[in-house]
Amino acid sequence: MSVAGIEPATSTLASHGTPRPSKAHYHCTTTETATATIAYTKRCMKEGAARAFQVHWAETAPERYKYFGIGTRGKPPELSLPHFTLSKLYASRTGHGDFAAYHVRFNHEDAATRCQCGREKTPEHFYYCRLGRRAARQPWGSLGVQDILATKQGALKLNHWLEKTGYFRRICPPHPSPPTQGEDN
Ligand SMILES: [Zn+2]
Repeated sequence: MSVAGIEPATSTLASHGTPRPSKAHYHCTTTETATATIAYTKRCMKEGAARAFQVHWAETAPERYKYFGIGTRGKPPELSLPHFTLSKLYASRTGHGDFAAYHVRFNHEDAATRCQCGREKTPEHFYYCRLGRRAARQPWGSLGVQDILATKQGALKLNHWLEKTGYFRRICPPHPSPPTQGEDN
């Protein structure tokens, strides 16, 4: 069983060593007529994105899990956490999420690559962010960022902190804030 139901490297990818994802690599394999309809093109783009993700996962996730000392067998203890917290936990563990390097790699042009504090978004930024620290006093206690990401105690702290601060919604949101208009006064 893979961690949290997220599939690790496929055997195809693993057997090819470390493939470098370049856009030219991802061809749509469907055997359709040469007419590139919009739907067809969109499907190709989706397939390309899915393959790009597989390569990205194969390259980064196992290394990061190893780094954090997270086992990949058995039921993860943090599964009782709310989905939002879990998704942020896994994003930071894998590097697959709302992070500058990830957006650059996949050409997400509309994404905000910087936190509102001005620093670039990285998987560990939430822990060090001065705005995040200002939003809650001593949020992490004696736990380091590695403890937060790799232990049950850390996951619970992260959950508590997210509930208290709304960090990824208010302080370090995925997209730039739209001009304030039409909001209730
Ligand atoms: Zn920040």
